[in-house]
Amino acid sequence: MKTEEIRSLFPALEQSVYGKPLVYLDNAATAQRSLAVLDKERALASTANANIHRAVHKLAVDATEEYEKTRDVVRGFLNAGSREEIVFTSGTTMSINLVASCFGEAFVGEGDEVIVSVAEHHSNIVPWQLLCQRKKAVLKVLDIDEFGGLQVDTLEKLISRRTKIIAISQISNVLGLVNPVSEIVRIAHAHDIPVLVDGAQGSIHEKVDVQAMDCDFYAFSGHKVYGATGTGVLYGKKKWLEAMPPYMGGGEMIETVRFSGTTFAPVPGKFEAGTQNFNAIPTLQEALPLARRFQEDWEVAHNEWAITHYLLDELTGNPRIRLYGVPRGTQVKIPLFSFTVEGAHHEDLALILDKMGIAVRSGQMCAEPLMDRCGVTGMLRVSFAPYNTMEEAEYFVKSLNRAINMLI
Ligand code: PMP
Repeated sequence: MKTEEIRSLFPALEQSVYGKPLVYLDNAATAQRSLAVLDKERALASTANANIHRAVHKLAVDATEEYEKTRDVVRGFLNAGSREEIVFTSGTTMSINLVASCFGEAFVGEGDEVIVSVAEHHSNIVPWQLLCQRKKAVLKVLDIDEFGGLQVDTLEKLISRRTKIIAISQISNVLGLVNPVSEIVRIAHAHDIPVLVDGAQGSIHEKVDVQAMDCDFYAFSGHKVYGATGTGVLYGKKKWLEAMPPYMGGGEMIETVRFSGTTFAPVPGKFEAGTQNFNAIPTLQEALPLARRFQEDWEVAHNEWAITHYLLDELTGNPRIRLYGVPRGTQVKIPLFSFTVEGAHHEDLALILDKMGIAVRSGQMCAEPLMDRCGVTGMLRVSFAPYNTMEEAEYFVKSLNRAINMLI
């Protein structure tokens, strides 16, 4: 697919900001939505706005069919073994909180251990911290090396007989390096330890196959893969989902309710309490096939490769700039670059770039422990999507240099 053709699918890209054409480089935070996604949500809200799984009337049946059809689309996208293994949530954050809470309730006790990495997003740290506090368990941390690569060779040393789960991102939202999750799963499974993969960034860039990866849980957000916000997925192996207690109690997650006791719906219904985001979840029917098309398209791959190499050269070649997450050997880096500039504050640079029409991310990127590990208070991040062009990458580099010269 040509980049121009891709751009024409995303109406938000046509706008100008401060009189400059928008250059949107904050895709790792939220990707823009395609017209088909916007149309889908609006069409459902206009014609099939009725609560799902409940009533027998036409609108309710249509809404339920759209919602459940989406489960099959997600199953295919992840190559999950069955549709029962797909739980809809509001996003990665909720998916991970669900596992930390429910898996933790069933399987983590006093003195047990949970392993995360130092490069995790807060949503793959804080839910585990809360669990560990509640259960008097211990949170252990896998470190990175000086280039940002996970020190997977030290994982065996962190694992003990008390390790109950390992939670790791497929791709860090700061470092942009593809982690060897299959290897981590292999090591963990050799000790009978399940693995949760935070796929918030991985689902965008990698062709995920949860059966091949053999992870026990996989979490991702719809809004990062061109879908509606407030949509998310938790994949969980059926044996785990069935063994875990429910997350929230409420309508539709039950089988029978008596004051003498309640029994719960079979999975995945057990984890989908209350009214679901039924106008938005079906946007994944449009978003996920598009994301997959991008992942499989050689022109998209070539454009991303060219942009990645151009920016790697520019950002590592400038002595004032320090890039975090530098690929080594065969390690894959996605077009996501976090860096600091000596003598210039990230916030100031971001504000100047904004006035030049360029949307970038600045700050801690919801990864304060990683900022501490890198010895900085914040970074600047640019993250590219298939609709970004090489011209935009070049304009960004030119504008960054102008901004730096204004400040130093
Ligand atoms: N994990 C990673 C790696 C992320 O990039 C993000 C979003 N920045 C999240 C988790 C949280 O996703 P959400 O806010 O959509 O729940």
